[in-house]
Amino acid sequence: MTRPFRVAIIGAGPAGIYAADLLTKAERDFEVSIDLFERLPTPFGLVRYGVAPDHPRIKGIINALIKVLDRGDIRLFSNVEYGVDINLGELTDRYDAVIFSTGCFVDASLNLPGVDLPGSYGAADFVNWYDSHPDVGQTWPLEAKSVAVLGNGNVALDVARVLAKQADDMHTTEIPEHVYAGLKDSQVTDVHVFGRRGPAQAKFTPLELRELGHVADVDIIVYPEDFEFDEGSMAAIESSNQVKQVAKTLTDFTMREPTGAKRRLHLHFLHAPVAILGEDRVTGLRTERQELDGTGNVTGTGEFHDWDVEAVYRAIGYAGTALPQLPFDAAKGVIPNHEGRVVDAEEQAKAAEADVIPGVYATGWIKRGPVGLIGHTKGDALETITHIIDDRSAGVLSDPVYPGEDAIVDLLESKGIDYVDWEGYHRVETAEKAAGEAEGRERVKIATRGGMLAEARGHVHSESAAPVSGH
Ligand code: NAP
Repeated sequence: MTRPFRVAIIGAGPAGIYAADLLTKAERDFEVSIDLFERLPTPFGLVRYGVAPDHPRIKGIINALIKVLDRGDIRLFSNVEYGVDINLGELTDRYDAVIFSTGCFVDASLNLPGVDLPGSYGAADFVNWYDSHPDVGQTWPLEAKSVAVLGNGNVALDVARVLAKQADDMHTTEIPEHVYAGLKDSQVTDVHVFGRRGPAQAKFTPLELRELGHVADVDIIVYPEDFEFDEGSMAAIESSNQVKQVAKTLTDFTMREPTGAKRRLHLHFLHAPVAILGEDRVTGLRTERQELDGTGNVTGTGEFHDWDVEAVYRAIGYAGTALPQLPFDAAKGVIPNHEGRVVDAEEQAKAAEADVIPGVYATGWIKRGPVGLIGHTKGDALETITHIIDDRSAGVLSDPVYPGEDAIVDLLESKGIDYVDWEGYHRVETAEKAAGEAEGRERVKIATRGGMLAEARGHVHSESAAPVSGH
């Protein structure tokens, strides 16, 4: 084969871009040509639409991802949705290998009485709002004075911090005006975060937890009776520096005296949610007191508490979403795969000899589930691309029908798909930075698809104009 080995990557979040980067740099004896597809007008996935705006250090990962795409050896086709604009057959006809890196971006479901009441929200929906995702509404109800946040992971911390923080302290970030105005109107005074297990089982990371202690005009309140450490907890503290730091920071919080701050952030442990209360809308949360069973797990004590809250945010984890024409393991919320090679049945994912779908791969959260920090997806990507290189070398992949680099451009153009390329992204970024500079901020995000597409086109073409492309 003298032509380049053609690879399509579906999903331009960190998982997809790391896979593209590692594949271009990997030791191999053949040339590769990689196209990256993204359903939104802009790339970067959860770094742009999941990381909280007041976390500029993590948002800064975008700069490293930009460097990868600035090299010019990976083409970007944004505003192209898999399953809508393009299907699996159209991809496999044009590429030797297709990698899915579509991530997890919806809330895991929680089976609780009252979960569908108005005032019960999924954390991912709130995150989408404050990160101004272009596909969600621009208003968010923040009239509740007292709110509950369920879960003890970093998303729960993000949600609790953004709810408790003064809007003016958020205004230095990239949030657009409608998010600032919504936060400014918030009536919240008390945010209660509930973990169903103990302080040593919280999944917070130390840095993010410590940050909570420095939020201006917010008192952190913890309850000494929640500080139970069983044998399992002590073993976890001794074996993990991270658990040790989290337990120490939480224990340090018990020494703090309230300062009379405008808002309070309460961290409760050993309270499992059992019902969201209310008739027409949320008026409370019922929890059952838990006790540790010696292993770090918990059992219910039969003692219930009702908390007066007017809103409940469920931050109990993300879930994967099934993709058209691909198998899906609904229990795990992933595309079933064996080390990144997509297989066609869930049980087979466990076996090395699983029935692999040739040329179809997965990486990132849609490969292994929504756990782990952004950098962890690099390991996934390495495993997946190593298998792609092996499969290419073993000759198990069939040749695409249309292997030329122009074939995809011809297809998208013939379908009238208004894709945005990397130059188009740069125009969006330039506009966002200019809007930020005017206000002394690094950038202000454009909040609508129309706004982003207009910038990507450089205002030259009309909404229905030809593809935004440098080709
Ligand atoms: P997570 O870390 O898995 O935390 C989920 C939390 O929800 C756990 O405390 C879990 O408790 C709890 N939970 C699950 N089911 C529950 C139920 N039925 N009732 C009550 N509680 C329940 O998930 P995440 O917070 O969505 O974060 C996902 C990943 O992104 C994590 O790796 C996280 O570190 C990362 N992230 C990082 C940042 C950052 O700033 N660095 C920000 C956001 C996300 P159990 O432990 O008892 O199951």
